[in-house]
Amino acid sequence: SGGEPEAELNNEEHRRKVLENPLVLRVRDIEKSFQGLKAVDKVSFDLHEGEVISIIGPNGSGKSTTINLISGFIAPDSGLIDIDGDPVAGLSAAEVSNRGLARTFQNGRVFAGLTVDENIGLGFHKKLHAQRPFAGLQRFPLLKWVPLLAETAVALFPGLNAHREQREVEQRIGREIDRFRERLESRRNDYAYTLSYANRRRTEIARAHISEPKLLLLDEPTAGMNQSETAEVLQQLQFLKSQGHTMLLVEHKIELVTALSDRVLAMDGGRIIAQGDPDHVRKNPQVVEAYLGKRR
Ligand code: ADP
Ligand code: MG
Repeated sequence: SGGEPEAELNNEEHRRKVLENPLVLRVRDIEKSFQGLKAVDKVSFDLHEGEVISIIGPNGSGKSTTINLISGFIAPDSGLIDIDGDPVAGLSAAEVSNRGLARTFQNGRVFAGLTVDENIGLGFHKKLHAQRPFAGLQRFPLLKWVPLLAETAVALFPGLNAHREQREVEQRIGREIDRFRERLESRRNDYAYTLSYANRRRTEIARAHISEPKLLLLDEPTAGMNQSETAEVLQQLQFLKSQGHTMLLVEHKIELVTALSDRVLAMDGGRIIAQGDPDHVRKNPQVVEAYLGKRR
């Protein structure tokens, strides 16, 4: 299909190398039922640092529920979810977010009453909060009072940090905006409720990216977008991949899946029915059947 052999070769190489990296996410046998219906049924997979995995599957196959389980928006009935080796299953979305996870939503969620800059700035403040310098010491009983003291000092003398922080956040937002070129530049001080759908989604991606997440989950980042908007999102995500970001995305558009993914998981009826590189998965008869037979 007029493919680009060089890009595919690079993908192949990336795919092999990335499997040697440490695990960022480990999912084991997670299950979730809604009123007796098994939305997610014993799903297991690993995600390595720098790896990009796509989940494909017909509507209702459990893709969004899987993302919601990992990001703490719903708790699994059973199973294990580890981020960087720490169990997070059952933690709240805020707590999981503080462990370095960022996500976007199937319908593009931004804070309607905040401007574009303010929305993106939230991601930066999340990063500052999540990367508290002494937080790691809480593991050691004798030193666990150190972060409390340090944070109290910062809270009592906010002026020490506020000015520098404000300058940094402005620079960082500017850099995010630049990546979307003229698309967001003229809208920076507009309230998010006035944005087009595509601009809401750009803002959402920028907000996630500025938080420097360990793990980025994207639920259908191009849903409802036209061809040129889709191409632009692909470019953004390729940029994030080239920066070494670890990503899990749910995506229907196969050209995006093929261009971005190191590995693809195909879901149907809450289960992973096939996995492998994009071509392998697309040629799997079970996957073809799931798409042709059951797609609503
Ligand atoms: P997908 O994202 O693959 O389209 P979902 O994960 O959204 O699928 O949904 C999987 C199944 O779980 C569907 O049958 C859906 O109706 C059901 N489901 C998802 N969320 C809820 C919920 N909050 N309450 C009840 N049923 C739900
Ligand atoms: Mg969905």
